[in-house]
Amino acid sequence: MVNNFRSLQAWETSQQLIPGGVNSPVRAFKSVGGSPLFIRRAQGSKIYDIDGNQYIDYVGSWGPLLLGHADPIVLSAISEVMKDGTSFGAPTELEIELANLVISAVKSVDQIRMVNSGTEATMTAIRLARGYTKRDKIIKIEGCYHGHVDCLLVKAGSGLTTFGLPDSEGVPTEFAHHTLTVPFNDVDSVQQVIEAYPDQIACLILEPIAGNMGVIPPKDGYLEELRRVTTEYGIVLIFDEVMTGFRVAYGGAQELYGVDADLTCFGKIIGGGLPVGAYGGKKDIMQCVSPIGEVYQAGTLSGNPLAMAAGIATLKQLSQPEVYAQLEETSGVISDGIKHSAKNHSISSFHNRVGSMMICYFTSQEVIDYETAKTSDTSKFSKYFWGLLGQGVYVAPSQFEAGFVSLAHTAEDVESTIRAVDNVFSNL
Ligand SMILES: *Cc1c(COP(=O)(O)O)cnc(C)c1O
Repeated sequence: MVNNFRSLQAWETSQQLIPGGVNSPVRAFKSVGGSPLFIRRAQGSKIYDIDGNQYIDYVGSWGPLLLGHADPIVLSAISEVMKDGTSFGAPTELEIELANLVISAVKSVDQIRMVNSGTEATMTAIRLARGYTKRDKIIKIEGCYHGHVDCLLVKAGSGLTTFGLPDSEGVPTEFAHHTLTVPFNDVDSVQQVIEAYPDQIACLILEPIAGNMGVIPPKDGYLEELRRVTTEYGIVLIFDEVMTGFRVAYGGAQELYGVDADLTCFGKIIGGGLPVGAYGGKKDIMQCVSPIGEVYQAGTLSGNPLAMAAGIATLKQLSQPEVYAQLEETSGVISDGIKHSAKNHSISSFHNRVGSMMICYFTSQEVIDYETAKTSDTSKFSKYFWGLLGQGVYVAPSQFEAGFVSLAHTAEDVESTIRAVDNVFSNL
């Protein structure tokens, strides 16, 4: 076991001052038991805790750090811009530059608005879809996560076409009333819900590759069918690409699968590790946003120059040739290594991967949606997690979080990781 004395001390103090000791729940390690590591610094593929332990990191700050930690080009871009001030609350040319980069990368995006988090992006995309269509109901996919927006913290009601129920205290039942929830990878359910509420549904929001219940790719034709049916009924199709945008391809999941959204939400990678979110899409919809339209949205720090600089420096590097081929190669070797090792040790597992997003579910079932993801043995996952940590490999502390590979992961990292996984599997 690693020496984590300082982390334990910090954890004691932290819990006195911050609810649950953390500023975002999953960091508390609740689903794997034990207490979290406090991090002091990170570089490339490695993260270092305050006791001085080194880990190969597959969390990547939960997605933003596709280039790896403390990328020198990103850091110097931030420090250059910082010399001229940190925030003006007025337009800057940096905002134009980042907007241009995203618009050039994602074909369905004509215009884009910067916000400060993925949550803000999805919250506003839904408000915008409602304002544009003058309809109230929305369709959400079970197991997809879009941040902590009231109307999206909703679980399915007792039947497909019944009202959703709040999935958090503090969300009024009425707020959940307009949210209809259907399973991932299931077009028939969507069709059924739409037919039950004709002309009442403003939008359908989903992660085109589900990345918050592990990793679940869309079945062949699923996104195309959603595109067809939403177009037919005048429903705004929102792709939440906060995780997948610039990760699975430069143009995101929409490029990978060749399906255009009406509105797209971004975050994570486009901020290069600084707090950013964005929503964008078709011009006629985007024109409904204040100050030219009647849908209100604002932000004191939106388009912050440091965040714009980090995002620009990140996207420019990602637009270089071979970037996604390298990610595919590295990720493929890791995922195949894990799969192979699991088989050798007769571990019941199911492996999904899209580009540099991957997961090993501890289940014997094929995982295609939330129901099947939930069949995973989470106590087995906890052992896997702690086993890996003990060997210097840091994966997300939950069975239902994607593993992220970065451009900073080396052949040596890959080899060490597979060896660590193999050791853990031999004792599982
Ligand atoms: C992380 C994430 C969000 C929320 O973004 P925050 O910046 O944490 O608010 C929304 N949607 C998806 C798909 C995400 O992965």
